[in-house]
Amino acid sequence: QWIYLDNDFVKKEEALVSVFDHGFLYGDGVFEGIRAYSGNIFKLSEHLDRLYQSAQSIMLNIPYSKEEMEEIIIGTVRRNQLETAYIRVVVSRGTGNLGLDPVSCSKPSVIVIAESLSLFPEELYERGLKMGSVASRRNRPDVLSPQVKSLNYLNNILVKLEANQAGVDEALMLNDQGYVTEGSADNIFIVKNNKIFTPPVYLGALEGITRNAIIDIAPENGYQISEQPFTRHDVYTADEVFLTGTAVEVIAVIDVDGRKIGTGRPGEVTKHLLTAFRNAVMKDGVQ
Ligand code: PLP
Repeated sequence: QWIYLDNDFVKKEEALVSVFDHGFLYGDGVFEGIRAYSGNIFKLSEHLDRLYQSAQSIMLNIPYSKEEMEEIIIGTVRRNQLETAYIRVVVSRGTGNLGLDPVSCSKPSVIVIAESLSLFPEELYERGLKMGSVASRRNRPDVLSPQVKSLNYLNNILVKLEANQAGVDEALMLNDQGYVTEGSADNIFIVKNNKIFTPPVYLGALEGITRNAIIDIAPENGYQISEQPFTRHDVYTADEVFLTGTAVEVIAVIDVDGRKIGTGRPGEVTKHLLTAFRNAVMKDGVQ
């Protein structure tokens, strides 16, 4: 496996960053998770836009243009002879001294990892996930925006730990007003009377690229879809609940806080959208 690390392709074993890198010391950096399907990199320009916006927001200068970064990402997939891949792009503040001030960091580190995808087992899609709401709240948009995919994912890790402790597959994260926002690393949708709803991102959710793809795909498949604030009550009483994300694609939720959702089995709308999404990824991508 070849890793892109600061202008070079190096072997996995040699892909090492300094303990003085502020990405390591402070979580100071940004990242993206991207997926390639049969050689097509899905929504690459959307992922690049989000990466550069995350970096801009934290005053991190990515030392390449978007076009150069695109070439690096495509190059990393090719170098590893991958068709279907999970791609991780990381840009950290780089090495500095032990103080947290980024001023000591002379140049950002750029890392691209592409590896063959470990797919979620198909039985998980057939069974559906159990979700539980957690005590931790989504960080407020006026402090550190949820739109910044920063290397400091402790908040999301804490909710994952809470979900593990509660014995459920995924966490349901609320904002500080109690509105539903998202999961630990995926967006949430509910279906009621064949209409689909997802929380507006201003409540405190990442504007997921899979989320946006579903917002495009749903009307093409005859569904009304809208962004609307909702609470746990709306989730408990929905006909269907599903999550979206680069890794998980579209997956049903069949239980939330012990409430059975719908029939307790993945619903028709969710299954339909998963199929439509899997068709779309084959057509829409950078070769
Ligand atoms: N929400 C959070 C907090 C995430 O980290 C992710 C993963 O990137 C998502 C949602 C899903 O976004 P996407 O569909 O762009 O992968």
